[in-house]
Amino acid sequence: MKNLKLTGTKADGLRTVVEISGIKIGLDFVVIAGPCAVESEDQLVRTAVAVKEAGGTMLRGGAFKPRTSPYAFQGLGLKGLKILDKARRETGLPIVTEVIDTRDVSWVGEYADILQIGARNMQNYSLLREAGKSGRPILLKRGMYSTLEEWLNCAEYILAEGNPGIILCERGIRSFETYTRNTLDLNIVPAVKGLSHLPIFVDPSHGTGVLRLIEPMSMAAVTAGADGLEVEVHIDPSTALSDKDQQLSPQAFARLMRKLTALRSALAAIEADEANRPEAKEAIAAVMDGKDNGERA
Ligand code: PEP
Ligand code: MN
Repeated sequence: MKNLKLTGTKADGLRTVVEISGIKIGLDFVVIAGPCAVESEDQLVRTAVAVKEAGGTMLRGGAFKPRTSPYAFQGLGLKGLKILDKARRETGLPIVTEVIDTRDVSWVGEYADILQIGARNMQNYSLLREAGKSGRPILLKRGMYSTLEEWLNCAEYILAEGNPGIILCERGIRSFETYTRNTLDLNIVPAVKGLSHLPIFVDPSHGTGVLRLIEPMSMAAVTAGADGLEVEVHIDPSTALSDKDQQLSPQAFARLMRKLTALRSALAAIEADEANRPEAKEAIAAVMDGKDNGERA
């Protein structure tokens, strides 16, 4: 891919690590969880406590909701950000929240630990430039009609403004399939790993829109090598003001977290086994002896 001056894989192979309150995104496995939208203090704080108890790493919740209909719930705005701040103080979970307007980037950045740019705004170049200037880490979701090249070029806009803290997040693309809300493109995870040094997350909630697909697709995302997940969790999904069909209950989220832990230890055992194979040992020894010519079968 051309012109990925800052986003493309580095010559030294080093990958970006975004550090927030001791959490190293890109190195530690991170689960960002919380409701689609901040609806009330009670709803958010109770959800945040459940996310924390289940082992979630960060709290998500939209205060500004980009909705298909102008008549649908648009989010609580500043009030929502203040509630997020309260939940952060009560649980210690850092906050991820979406910004949808260039005029809001700097002040929303005062509340958010990570600013999210949503699928609908992936190619909003002025918003990307403002995000680049904000100095806050940016979670950049993939546009629903965007190719990998277009997406990486959008990350390039942010990096070009001097902001190195970018996390990519696959959230499904539009296809002819209507059973799911979107088609979750998990090919993109190893593809991004080969082309870019940026961390790559997966959002199985928007990626499927179907409750019972969220757990298996989360497992699949981790197996594909995702650095983390962004999952919608609501204290009482049946009452949610947005995306009620794709928000996990606290119980379902806790179960997902248990299964992810077991899966990650099984995957680590597979990696360790591979690394212990004679070929791997020989290759490592050759690198140590300076005899490695870089050729691989
Ligand atoms: C969200 O995560 O709140 C959201 C609106 O997702 P997307 O931009 O991927 O649709
Ligand atoms: Mn949502």
